[in-house]
Amino acid sequence: MIHARVNGVMLTLVLGGALAVSARGGPAQDQEVSLAGAIDFHVHSGPDSRPRSVNDLEVARMTQRAGMRGIVLKNHFTMTADRAALAMGQVEGIEIFGGVVLNRAVGGINPEAVRQMVQFAGGLGKVVWLPTFDAEYYVTAQGGSDPFVSVMRDGKPVPELAEIFTLVAENDLVLAMGHSSPEEVLILIDEARRHGVEQILVTHVFSQRPSRVQVQQMADASALLEIDWYAVHLGNQTIDFYVSAIREIGAEHFVMSSDLGQATSPSHVEGLRSYITAFRNAGLTDDQIDLMLRRNPARLLGLEP
Ligand SMILES: [Zn+2]
Repeated sequence: MIHARVNGVMLTLVLGGALAVSARGGPAQDQEVSLAGAIDFHVHSGPDSRPRSVNDLEVARMTQRAGMRGIVLKNHFTMTADRAALAMGQVEGIEIFGGVVLNRAVGGINPEAVRQMVQFAGGLGKVVWLPTFDAEYYVTAQGGSDPFVSVMRDGKPVPELAEIFTLVAENDLVLAMGHSSPEEVLILIDEARRHGVEQILVTHVFSQRPSRVQVQQMADASALLEIDWYAVHLGNQTIDFYVSAIREIGAEHFVMSSDLGQATSPSHVEGLRSYITAFRNAGLTDDQIDLMLRRNPARLLGLEP
């Protein structure tokens, strides 16, 4: 770490690239932000087919050192319940969960992928994400011509989803909506509920560009709404936009996550600290942040609040 004084402001240069400014009496600074008890529900790490900044063990150690309570490992193409079990065996004092994303690599809407996951030793496969990069909405909204996985056909959920939803319900898993469209999400929430699914998370809800009415309908249907730091880091979303939605809909409906792990992004821990700082500076209370970063993700995962 290198310290230097520039124009009366102490700059702390952390090797590895991050530049932090500490000014007494100014807005809350990232270094002072505690991540104790935090759960990051959206962690990317290697090995992966995309470049990642850290591997599973490194992110487990980093988040454990930061005092965090847990992480959920997400890979778009392969199941992570086994990786969660391996990492948890190596790093004490942190809960590590995995799941499966129903993209083409696991056969799309393939109940067998879920059936096998829940039988893996350790029982840490906790999340089933509907298709993400292979979602019909995601592929077609960008004008892509790649093959995709449909969650709806002729206005109805595809029949294979019934078995997926039943498996999610029977095994107390979390159903995450992946990159389904807002219209699909609203129909799928109802359909999942009919099959007894209790825990539903709308994956980075605003990336799929829902109307405010649709977001309110998702909240009214008791789905939790994920808001990620990565979108803000990229400049695709603003903190003020998040804050206005939280003020309108209520913090009890939201889950903060990082969605970090890209090779060129800040670390998960740095991202979450910046996230908390940004929310505090925008006027959210620590109680609201606590709900979104600690209690709501704990509830989804069946942990004590
Ligand atoms: Zn992600």
